[in-house]
Amino acid sequence: MASPPAHPRTPALAAERDSLAGFLEAVAAPLDFLLRSPAATAARVGVPSAALAARGRALLGQLPERERERVAEICATLEIFERHPPPNRSAWARELRERIAQLGLPAVLNSAPPPRPLERVPPPAPTYHRTSGELTAQLEALAQSVQFVRGVGPQRAEQFRKLGLRSIEDLLYHLPFRYEDRRAVRTVRELRVGEEASVMGEIAHLSERYVGRSQRRILEGAIKDDTGFLALTWYHQVAYFKNRYQVGQRCLVHGKVEMGATGLKRMVHPEIDLDADAGGQGVLPVYNKPTAMSVGVMRKIVQQAVGEWSGRVPSALPESVVTRAGITDLGRALQRVHAPARESDVAQLNAFASLGHRSLVFDELFYLQLGLALKRRSVAIEAGRALRRTGELTDRLARSLPFALTNAQQRVIEEIYADLAAPHPMHRLIQGDVGSGKTIVALFAALVAIENGLQAAFMAPTELLAEQHFSTVGRWADDLGLRAALLTGEQPRAQRRKLEAQLASGEIQIVVGTHALIQDGVRFKAVGLGVIDEQHRFGVMQRAALRGLSGSASGPPPDILLLSATPIPRTLAMTLYGDLDVSLLDELPPGRQTIRTLVFRESDRQKVYALTKRELDAGRQGYVVYPLIDPSDKAELRDATTMANELARTVFAGYRVGLIHGRMKGSEKDQVMRRFKAGDLQLLVSTTVIEVGIDVPNATVMVVEHAERFGLAQLHQLRGRVGRGSGASTCILVGPAYAGDDAYRRLKAMERTTDGFKIAEIDLEIRGPGDFLGTRQSGLPDFRVANLIRDSRLLDEARRAADAWLARDPTLSAPESAALKTVLRHRWAGRLELAEIG
Ligand code: ADP
Ligand code: MG
Repeated sequence: MASPPAHPRTPALAAERDSLAGFLEAVAAPLDFLLRSPAATAARVGVPSAALAARGRALLGQLPERERERVAEICATLEIFERHPPPNRSAWARELRERIAQLGLPAVLNSAPPPRPLERVPPPAPTYHRTSGELTAQLEALAQSVQFVRGVGPQRAEQFRKLGLRSIEDLLYHLPFRYEDRRAVRTVRELRVGEEASVMGEIAHLSERYVGRSQRRILEGAIKDDTGFLALTWYHQVAYFKNRYQVGQRCLVHGKVEMGATGLKRMVHPEIDLDADAGGQGVLPVYNKPTAMSVGVMRKIVQQAVGEWSGRVPSALPESVVTRAGITDLGRALQRVHAPARESDVAQLNAFASLGHRSLVFDELFYLQLGLALKRRSVAIEAGRALRRTGELTDRLARSLPFALTNAQQRVIEEIYADLAAPHPMHRLIQGDVGSGKTIVALFAALVAIENGLQAAFMAPTELLAEQHFSTVGRWADDLGLRAALLTGEQPRAQRRKLEAQLASGEIQIVVGTHALIQDGVRFKAVGLGVIDEQHRFGVMQRAALRGLSGSASGPPPDILLLSATPIPRTLAMTLYGDLDVSLLDELPPGRQTIRTLVFRESDRQKVYALTKRELDAGRQGYVVYPLIDPSDKAELRDATTMANELARTVFAGYRVGLIHGRMKGSEKDQVMRRFKAGDLQLLVSTTVIEVGIDVPNATVMVVEHAERFGLAQLHQLRGRVGRGSGASTCILVGPAYAGDDAYRRLKAMERTTDGFKIAEIDLEIRGPGDFLGTRQSGLPDFRVANLIRDSRLLDEARRAADAWLARDPTLSAPESAALKTVLRHRWAGRLELAEIG
């Protein structure tokens, strides 16, 4: 894997950086200590802030602009810390610590602040012993329309509906996405330009003025406190604001501090609160809301719902689980997250790590893990075939391979042999980066099934991929004297009939196909192994259907092997595929080309074409990938069909250019692919239809247009289409026009790493698992609060808690499990076959 380029360091700059690093370390040390201490001790941790601030100020002269500003802010914060010891030292320390982390200098300081010791937990309300009937009634009451919340009429209900908030429960679980700390009230002198702050003062002046050539009317004012004046400016609704406030009124103003033209600090369109006291407005929750609704109204409605209904949300987790996890009941948790107490830790609230958040998240994840554990158990106890390897075919294949298996391949093959030999159906997922050699591993598994007189079925998500597999798997099968066949939805009826007959009789031993394999009419004699390639492309339903393949209705279900090249971090995989065992092919066969990845802007297009031509002129081939098949009137995107014509006429005139996309017929696609493979076509214009499995070793360049439209994991897959032969390969990502764009920076990550797991993780962080996998595909209940990446620690804890509970009460039949069972069914409604819990 390529590492990011090192920072260019001149010796002089290096020395400055080192003294800066020393300073930052000196500040971070006591802060980290303070943050790690329990609240009672934290209050007594000494921070030599004045001395530290002085040390920092002494450094300022030598620092480059950007760092100087940041260090000056740190010093200012330290000085304030010294002069006005804040009531909530932890919050201050955390803020300071974050500023240090943002400077991002030495790696040690680069990390986020350490986790905070857990808040003390109030005893949970005794709601755990309700009867199942009571619980069901409560759950039904909460499922009523939001209109049952006071303040919500049909019109607002409709607005909420558009946001996906239909029931009272939806509203209760609609958590603030952010909290604003309005507790600290500063003096005018303490205000720092660029920050948001509250100031208490008296309106000292208020008058209209006409400005500019157009004589636009604006309202100007000022408030004053003992330390100075703060200017206020309004550009809109001048008359309204002018009448609303009067000189002499005491009020709290809140807003972003700017430097005004007159040299006075000022706020534009500040929020003004005439009722607040010197204690500020507390900690304010901020919600996603319907556009037509004001922030205040939204807040009020949610408060209303919480006040009226949160006490009726049933907490059914067993008391022992609750105590051990250190959480509180749902009613209190909801109150805490929607109406945080004044003394709350705002950073913790914003990180979704407060007691209230943790309680809601744990609750959600516990039911998830409980459901998954039950599913796993039901698989484990299901009877299957014990398939023993005889070696008759597997040894022959091993001997005839033109390459040595990697260690990872050998390890995974052994894991599979062990699974196959067990008298339960195997459900194993193999995750391996593009090119890690998953197919051959699956083939060894297939041969074991055939050694036992059974059939093997390979299912691929596209016709193209099925054909590719057939051409490789089929060749191996031929060499071993086995009967192999391809089955897709596009074959002529007569041929199809014949194939179906041969599958039913057992004459065909190994079949490769699309989802046509699991459609009605296809009967097997007896399938021992089902392989699903690129499994993330299939929904759970298809997975289930393949499980159902067994030939005779009474036969045991086959062993199932899933292959995926979209690597998912392990803890997440355990959850998403919690009912599967996971194997990792974490090693590429030796001698693989690393692919050079380059991000270009739209404006660099000529360079991109030149690079591509150079490859083609050297006898290599290339791909150009577009996000769309046809022109779209919605988006200004280039599309494959138009561009294939245009490129062939203009830039690539004289080259042999082909087009392939997902809406072409299988036979057409096949023909294009064959011509490309044979070298008859030099440049293949395509959509993501080539994303998986396509293997043309002579292709050494790929251009992805509008690359920002694709997920990083998907780009990684696409990129895997080059670098498959001996030639050095290049992948060019053409991104947005502006390099300052976030999307552009995201693409730059692709230049730095070729590690599929890293990329998947970055992608997951950016887009979340729902987008990443498609929620529908994951087959999991939707999460309302939990985030599988952010909450990975709680995910683990919940898993252990659920396993422990089931170890005591495997079928949830004990009286203590009654409430749990009711809520579990509700949460997993329809998604889980929970036959085993009745
Ligand atoms: P993927 O994991 O992306 O599906 P494939 O199974 O298509 O990868 O394998 C990619 C290529 O690598 C194939 O041409 C395959 O024959 C070859 N291959 C597999 N294992 C090895 C190995 N151990 N050494 C060398 N080449 C291998
Ligand atoms: Mg593959």
